[in-house]
Amino acid sequence: MKSANEWTAVPQIDSKYYPELRAALRIWWREQGRSFPWRAQNNPYTIFLAEVILQKTQVAKAERAYYELVTAYPTMIALAQASFSHLEGIFTWLGLRKRARFLLSAAQQIAERHQGVVPREQKLLKQLPGIGDYTANAILCFAYQQPLPIVDTPIARVLKRLLGFQSARSPWEDPIAWRIAGEFLDVEHPVEHNYALLDLAALICVENPKCSICPLKSWCSYYKTIHL
Ligand code: SF4
Repeated sequence: MKSANEWTAVPQIDSKYYPELRAALRIWWREQGRSFPWRAQNNPYTIFLAEVILQKTQVAKAERAYYELVTAYPTMIALAQASFSHLEGIFTWLGLRKRARFLLSAAQQIAERHQGVVPREQKLLKQLPGIGDYTANAILCFAYQQPLPIVDTPIARVLKRLLGFQSARSPWEDPIAWRIAGEFLDVEHPVEHNYALLDLAALICVENPKCSICPLKSWCSYYKTIHL
């Protein structure tokens, strides 16, 4: 049997199977998906905050920083008036000191230009400091239910194995990964779909994938390659 790292050639899954795959992913997520405070309420500000904190951060640490920030600054307007040294202390603890400046500046721009309301347009979000393609789409999908794909390293890993495509480029700047994530997106349930991909990547399709308990193994290119 090949290990995950030795795996190379895989067949492409025919897109006619995507509806079955999306449904299986969604059903699994409804039963086994993770719960986080920012997922429990449909609040664009707290979702914005969570997405900024979650970039390259351990979830356990992110959760603590999230509570601290939401408690101290319950609205975007309050965050825009935050003490920089307080934010810097929180993000230094997360190991992401530079992000304090980005967050404060983004909050000030949203307060000044958008009356404290998180923009609903990708173009406007990406004008804010520290907001790239992934974070902009994640905010628009989770806060405003817009049918947009998200691609980061864990999601690209899942999609490459599952759907059977290869690309050597970094996920966040990989047009192939973004195109395929867009084609695979469940446009009827974009929030559940994207949360499900994140959770599958975190819980099951990890570096050494736990294929035996994966809800998608019947379709998965990688699984078929190593087991059939
Ligand atoms: S079967 Fe599931 S866990 Fe295994 S590689 Fe495929 S998607 Fe990942």
